[in-house]
Amino acid sequence: MKRRSFVQASMALGSMGAFGSMLGCASVGRVPEKARVIVVGGGYGGATAAKYVRMLSNYKIDVTMIEPNGDFVSCPISNLVLGGSKTMADITTPYDKLSGKHGVNIVRDYVASVDAAKKTVTLASGPSIRYDKLIMSPGIDLMFNNIEGLQAAHDSGQILQAWKAGPETMALRKQLEAMDDGGVYAIAIPQAPYRCPPGPYERASQVAHYFKQHKPKSKVLILDANQDVTSNGPLYKKFWADNYKGILEYMPQHKVTAVDAKTNTMKFDVQGDVKANVLNILPDMRAGNIAVKANLANVNSRWCGVNYLTFESTQAKDVHVIGDAMMLAPLMPKSGHMANSHGKVVAAAVVAQLSDMPVNPAPFLSNTCYSFLNDKLVVHVASVHQYDAAEKTYKTVKGSGGVSSAPNELEGIYAWNWAQNIWADTLL
Ligand SMILES: Cc1cc2nc3c(=O)[nH]c(=O)nc-3n(C[C@H](O)[C@H](O)[C@H](O)COP(=O)(O)OP(=O)(O)OC[C@H]3O[C@@H](n4cnc5c(N)ncnc54)[C@H](O)[C@@H]3O)c2cc1C
Repeated sequence: MKRRSFVQASMALGSMGAFGSMLGCASVGRVPEKARVIVVGGGYGGATAAKYVRMLSNYKIDVTMIEPNGDFVSCPISNLVLGGSKTMADITTPYDKLSGKHGVNIVRDYVASVDAAKKTVTLASGPSIRYDKLIMSPGIDLMFNNIEGLQAAHDSGQILQAWKAGPETMALRKQLEAMDDGGVYAIAIPQAPYRCPPGPYERASQVAHYFKQHKPKSKVLILDANQDVTSNGPLYKKFWADNYKGILEYMPQHKVTAVDAKTNTMKFDVQGDVKANVLNILPDMRAGNIAVKANLANVNSRWCGVNYLTFESTQAKDVHVIGDAMMLAPLMPKSGHMANSHGKVVAAAVVAQLSDMPVNPAPFLSNTCYSFLNDKLVVHVASVHQYDAAEKTYKTVKGSGGVSSAPNELEGIYAWNWAQNIWADTLL
């Protein structure tokens, strides 16, 4: 990467000082005293955006973040709770610094509806709140109805997804603990795009690691609707062959169409039925329900189209959508690191627009996803994405990023440090 590009990329990767200078100190006085930004969702995208709008506006813009959960529970690292090497406490961070240190008003509620014409959101508890700018980062919701029988099996607590970290993560761990040695855990993966491309393969590896130590007669089955492993394929497959032979089996092009909860059996579009003791079926995903309800999911009725310079919805003025809910540019994963990056770019754009300043014409986004193959050995995939003004999209920067050459323990240390750093950047 050329030096100038590297400096620009470093700015986008997020030091506060760099962002301060990006907006221009001389202009900070033009930030309006009364503007109000509402952020929907306190996950990787929303919490970052809330914090950075406060910081970049010199703490002048009023920010209200609406989030139903009392604490932030991280999906990254949650697969290690299933593998047994981390606990729920390790992946949980309170929101108190966002309010106490950064002055974000946190409302613990759901947004039930959005009125983009009146510029208000209405909370599930009743009141409506006015905004000048709305930033939506509601993550994903699962399309249970695409698999016959799955909604009921989920509602009864029998077949879990745990694709939003929280109580389901622990409940799935308990199912694995309760399973007899000699049992089968099966994870079904939907067709891409879905939240966190390497996530299901990391999870299968974690469960295989747990079985190898504690239930050596048990098996892990991966039923993948995709043609092949969608991320880090050669590294995963080599590791599975070398370390989980006889424990883990990978089956591509297996698309689940129905589930029989009485017999714990999955049905496929082509192949014969598969039965397992613990089923972890991930259906197709789409933008979080509130984004769909607000009519923002205008790409295939699943994802929210945006102007990539500002992340403003192509559907509604002054409504910005970031994180997994967004229709991502090519080669951009649905990841926490990416959502955190979106949070900074949208914060800078929103503060600039509210202050009558030009929006940064060349934002960068970055991503690194670490995958734990057991409790210590890790691989990563990384990329840097630059806005291309001619094509109005993001393109990966030549020579940026890459993948690990082999699993190694040093990256295990980096991965845990990455988590601590991104939690601090998002929440503290
Ligand atoms: C098992 C697993 C492992 C992963 N590992 C990694 C990894 O190693 N690295 C990585 O970068 N990414 C990883 N990811 C992906 C990462 O978790 C997501 O990409 C990231 O959380 C997306 O951020 P977001 O802000 O879009 O959504 P979220 O972080 O899910 O936040 C959405 C928030 O919106 C709230 N919300 C939803 N609806 C409403 C509403 N109506 N009103 C108010 N609030 C609402 C939710 O409660 C939630 O807190 C992993 C994901 C999984 C499932």
